[in-house]
Amino acid sequence: MSKVRTRFAPSPTGRMHVGNLRSALYEFLIAKHAGGEFMLRIEDTDQERYVEGAVDIIYHTMAETGLVHDEGPDKDGGYGPYVQSERMKTGIYMKYAKELVDKGEAYYCFCDKERLASLKTEVVEGKEITLYDKHCLSLSKEEVEANLAAGKPFVIRQNIPNEGTTTFHDELYGDITVENAELDDMILIKSDGYPTYNFANVVDDHTMNITHVVRGNEYLSSAPKYQRLYDAFGWESPVYIHLPLITDENHKKLSKRSGHSSFEDLLEQGFLSEAVVNYIALLGWSPEDNREIFTLDELIKEFDYHRISKSPAVFDYTKLKWMNGEYIKAMDFERFYEMAEPYIREVIHKDMDLKKIAAMVKTRIEVFPDIREHIDFFEELPEYDTAMYTHKKMKTTEETSLAVLCDVLPILEAQEDFSNDALYQTLLKYVGEKGVKNGYVMWPLRTAVSGKQMTPGGATELMEVLGKEESIARIKKGISMLQK
Ligand code: GLU
Repeated sequence: MSKVRTRFAPSPTGRMHVGNLRSALYEFLIAKHAGGEFMLRIEDTDQERYVEGAVDIIYHTMAETGLVHDEGPDKDGGYGPYVQSERMKTGIYMKYAKELVDKGEAYYCFCDKERLASLKTEVVEGKEITLYDKHCLSLSKEEVEANLAAGKPFVIRQNIPNEGTTTFHDELYGDITVENAELDDMILIKSDGYPTYNFANVVDDHTMNITHVVRGNEYLSSAPKYQRLYDAFGWESPVYIHLPLITDENHKKLSKRSGHSSFEDLLEQGFLSEAVVNYIALLGWSPEDNREIFTLDELIKEFDYHRISKSPAVFDYTKLKWMNGEYIKAMDFERFYEMAEPYIREVIHKDMDLKKIAAMVKTRIEVFPDIREHIDFFEELPEYDTAMYTHKKMKTTEETSLAVLCDVLPILEAQEDFSNDALYQTLLKYVGEKGVKNGYVMWPLRTAVSGKQMTPGGATELMEVLGKEESIARIKKGISMLQK
């Protein structure tokens, strides 16, 4: 068997859609699992859809996700050029198109816009389809040559018979057979001399020795035309794997409207690229057991493409958030701090130990922007209601809280070491002397210094970060609120 070679073949049309990233990931995993090669090819023949800066997005995404290509525009592997507009200049597409013309599998078409516009359209499955009527197929060789010599604009079309059927194979869908009469004589070379995306894709996959192609199933309908091209050339077609659609929670195609359809959206929303890659791996593929957390290396080892499913994959944002939280928990602290610091600084401007704050929130957040709501009280004590001092389980009321705060205030004022440990020991001593439960003392204190029901740490942890002066001031404020 020949060496496994896969390719990611994005068109530079904007942000990296989650579906495209999934194709790239699966292509990468198939190659690496088999010890093969993974290639990057830029498909930029559709000049109208080209978006400035989109090529940079492609490189950036691949670098961020760790999908390192063995060959590509920036890494020659002997199959270049790797950008279709550059390949076109070598004349490769025209050469192969002419070969098909010579074989009777393609023909020149000189029809102008007006004539094409007058062709019958049919509505098939809600889509308007215009099949070309093969008008130019009947031109004689001499007529074609005369037109070319006169410089008449032309396209080259694939010649698909009106009778018979075409069968192609997909790994997930099996053999699919379609009536040839339903297939359009699609354009292979456009009037500007560029190949169409479909034609360039076939020529390139073959000439670049690609063995496996993974793509979205929106390409399934073009697959029979591809098959006919492979057959016409006498080439073996690669293994095709058309992936199920990715939908949003409402089972609609995951689109820009969802607000998280691209890799860049997700990064902006505070997700880690490893978590995104892990999550996307499971959008259509599953391992033998129920395991969910995988590093890229683990995925390489486990990824068997025969386990890809053809049922639609629902993008579950809540699940992705959960997974991201797991990655954050497992993250090395230094790296976490580097990423968390900007979010902490957005909320906290006073001089405080930001690393301690970061350590407190690390296990509590799912995405980085969650940090803000967890720590906002450090900067300034929020308005709060004294009803918060009442806690059934801790057996506290406003009265007991007032008594406790009044008791511990002088103790804390006398306390020199305001570290978490020292404060905790001091308060434990008080708890012991009083013969009460920890919460009976800690709850009112935590309420007084944070003004919040939920905090990322216990009373003494918060007091350590706030410092003596601020903690005492907040406790005094609590006392005066409770006295009213
Ligand atoms: N250029 C196509 C795209 O970006 C690639 C499809 C394929 O992988 O064949 O959708």
